[in-house]
Amino acid sequence: MVYPIVKFGDPVLEREADDVNEFDTPELHKFLEDMFESMYAAKGVGLAAPQIGVGRKIAVIDCSNAENPAEKIVLINPKIVAVEGKQVGEEGCLSIPGFREQVRRGKRVTVRAQNAKGEEFEMTGEDLLARAFLHETDHLYGKLYISHISALKRDLMKRKIKKLQRAGDWS
Ligand SMILES: [Zn+2]
Repeated sequence: MVYPIVKFGDPVLEREADDVNEFDTPELHKFLEDMFESMYAAKGVGLAAPQIGVGRKIAVIDCSNAENPAEKIVLINPKIVAVEGKQVGEEGCLSIPGFREQVRRGKRVTVRAQNAKGEEFEMTGEDLLARAFLHETDHLYGKLYISHISALKRDLMKRKIKKLQRAGDWS
């Protein structure tokens, strides 16, 4: 099932999601399947549960754009445990469509999370994957990438979004 993507302005995107305590249930497996399906439908490389209106600490990532099943990553209750180096590059978000900004992020990032069975693991990614770890984990703590750009750029973006909202082009 493909869920609609929740857009900026919905409070679910700006509050910390709840921890997941039940693992390996049919509901969780189905939900993860739906998250991948929703992410591919929206042509994203990452998706966090709040972006489909579910306030739980679950994110999926696939930097191969569905080309390589081995690159499918499930992060449940993730925490960033190490960040090294710097990269500056364009970043966007499915919940803020039509906008992209230069965002400075760590180049090499290690995340600790649980998989669908509740097993804890650590994974280190570089470049795009590092960016995805940071972006998606942020989402689960109610943080959007626009918190990493200048206040000036952020205010400009928010004004443009308000205009779109008033015109009925943002929902
Ligand atoms: Zn996002």
